[in-house]
Amino acid sequence: MADPLVCAAAACMLAVLPPVEFDNYKGLLSITVAKSKEELRILCNNTVAQNPLGLGCAWKNKPITGSCWIIRAPDKDIIEAGYTVRLVIRHESGHCLGWPGSHPGSRVPTAADR
Ligand SMILES: [Zn+2]
Repeated sequence: MADPLVCAAAACMLAVLPPVEFDNYKGLLSITVAKSKEELRILCNNTVAQNPLGLGCAWKNKPITGSCWIIRAPDKDIIEAGYTVRLVIRHESGHCLGWPGSHPGSRVPTAADR
């Protein structure tokens, strides 16, 4: 895995996309844009160790059963890390469909995915 801090170019992008079967969330979705990584970690209820990139998280069945709540970092933080808002939403939407947090089967985005 490449270090995202020294690797903002597309060629270095980590495998952030979910497997195809977790890449088509069509359910109810709420998206909150956190003001900072600190706020994101509070809303996501996780630590730096649990969420080192700090770009997003997803809560299944929040705010209501059957919906999904995605919290994402500000655009600036996502772009600085070498990703796009679209990629972060697709990643987190995969978790809305039940993609495990250990990210089995993750895929490297192509230029078209960005
Ligand atoms: Zn994830």
